[in-house]
Amino acid sequence: MNDIRCAEIVELVTDFLDGSLDEPAGRRFADHLPGCRGCERYVEQVRQIRRLLRGQATHRTLLPATRAALLGAALLVPVSPP
Ligand SMILES: [Zn+2]
Repeated sequence: MNDIRCAEIVELVTDFLDGSLDEPAGRRFADHLPGCRGCERYVEQVRQIRRLLRGQATHRTLLPATRAALLGAALLVPVSPP
């Protein structure tokens, strides 16, 4: 089995972003993303959420899609425009 599936991306995304995947798994993970727009967007959203949780980003620096996903999950309270 050389190909990684979308379900595995969801499972492995935290390890991937932590850099704790071993070499073949990390490479298969990275290889999957350019060919799969859904996973690419998902990984980017998780990356942004992790930054947000570490205080390295604010809701204003999030991609609109990430903000929409967080709002949908009720994790982010909408703010009024200034
Ligand atoms: Zn995928």
